[in-house]
Amino acid sequence: MAETHLNLIGGRWVKARSGRTFANHNPATGEALGDYPASGPEDVDAAVAAAAKAYPAWRLTPAPKRAEIVFRAGELIRARKEDLARAMTREMGKILVETRGDVQEGIDMAYLAAGEGRRMYGVTTPSEMPNKWAMSVRAPIGVVGVITPWNFPFAIPSWKLMPALVAGNTAVFKPAGDTPEMAWHFAKIFEAAGLPAGVLNLVFGSGAQVGEPMVAHPGIAVISFTGSTDVGLGIAGRGGALGKRISLEMGGKNAIIVLEDADLSLATDAILWSAFGTTGQRCTACSRVLVHERVHDALAQRLAERARRLTLGDGLDPATEVGPLVNAKQVETVADYVAVGMQEGTLAAGGARAAEGTLARGHFFRPTVFTGVKADARIAVEEIFGPVLALVKVTDLEEAVAVNNASRYGLSSAIFTADVHRAFAAMRDLETGIVYVNHGTTGAETHLPFGGTRGTGNGHREAGHTMLDPFTEWKSIYVDFSGRLQRAQIDNA
Ligand code: NAD
Repeated sequence: MAETHLNLIGGRWVKARSGRTFANHNPATGEALGDYPASGPEDVDAAVAAAAKAYPAWRLTPAPKRAEIVFRAGELIRARKEDLARAMTREMGKILVETRGDVQEGIDMAYLAAGEGRRMYGVTTPSEMPNKWAMSVRAPIGVVGVITPWNFPFAIPSWKLMPALVAGNTAVFKPAGDTPEMAWHFAKIFEAAGLPAGVLNLVFGSGAQVGEPMVAHPGIAVISFTGSTDVGLGIAGRGGALGKRISLEMGGKNAIIVLEDADLSLATDAILWSAFGTTGQRCTACSRVLVHERVHDALAQRLAERARRLTLGDGLDPATEVGPLVNAKQVETVADYVAVGMQEGTLAAGGARAAEGTLARGHFFRPTVFTGVKADARIAVEEIFGPVLALVKVTDLEEAVAVNNASRYGLSSAIFTADVHRAFAAMRDLETGIVYVNHGTTGAETHLPFGGTRGTGNGHREAGHTMLDPFTEWKSIYVDFSGRLQRAQIDNA
């Protein structure tokens, strides 16, 4: 029988106050994986109260000590990497190679964030007055609310919660409804690593019943959100009006530019991995290729041939190259976009659900390639979040850059070329948070800032040397040891 899991509030594992639960399913097989609390605003209240209670002691715990707990969590994740990867594949479908990578991001982030415990550098600077000391230090903010999607169910919580905790905040964490199990493992690991009660609180449930009350809650000072642009902008409006800090990582419509001098074989490998890895459900997935007209047909042929040969199946099977979509609704969305694509381009591969044999039990869709798509066509502009790729012809780099930059989104972009001049021009001119040269649009490393422009973000960057920015306030401190009243801008003018 499927296990029933609980919320973690104030160090205790508890049911939703309403007693209600929701079920978690394997998207490849339909198997029931467990029940989780369908929490509500009253559970959010309890979690915020617990986080607020834990905050004073956690804030005063030396940062290197806080970081040691995060480091220990990293060690536990490393020891359990394979189990966690398997659980993730069962829960959200991506293949084992990729779920291992997702867990590895959690390990990398734990080590990187733990290092910040002994850095967290401030700035000292001379005062304009004699016998006066001036410096700026980072201070924690209080209780942070973390709301995450299902596509990187271990990595994304790690990017947010690890720096937030090292910085001295306490947290309320609401994971996506499609991936509660990974969040449960995450909290269990931090509990085993010795995190004090109430520092991390986990509340399962829907966006409406848990996410919205978090955004509205006066006890939560920061919301760190990753998910779709429409939901994120709604949160920015409501939370911003309450004076909260809102850090948003949202949608993408990432382009790979292929110029006429590109290595087409390398570009083909990279495009396939970027477009169909995680079944197209990465925020950095490549969903449009801006290809020079001279090589459009040759590239289209290579991509279509290879896309047709990709093996669909349960991600736990080592032969599988493309797993299921996360749920039935996502299959509907993809099918709707493919119907639109039939009017907007030429279907070169895929274009239909896959339901033969055991695939009928899951949410499978064939890797799909459309060629000859116009730059402003819906399938070339809107985020589909599925295995659908549109090839758009361009005449030169300038046009490719203009098409890339006209997007509502600005997360990742890539260019394939052998010409160092055009590569550098693209690095300068592509207006995305991440740019790759001769590499696909996916594959960010945790020690570089991660995030996007326009509809993808609101100026924050996660991970990298910027990881503490969403979760700390700068405090400027002046120490006057002159023993007399010294007035800046007045007594030294
Ligand atoms: P989603 O916006 O539907 O949900 C994200 C989270 O927000 C979930 O936990 C959900 O329950 C919660 N939520 C939903 N409505 C809410 C509300 N009104 N108030 C508060 N919380 C609410 O997104 P999803 O389907 O889970 O994830 C896919 C999206 O995430 C895609 O658009 C993808 O591009 C984006 N994404 C972005 C990044 C990035 O770093 N930029 C990374 C991964 C995914």
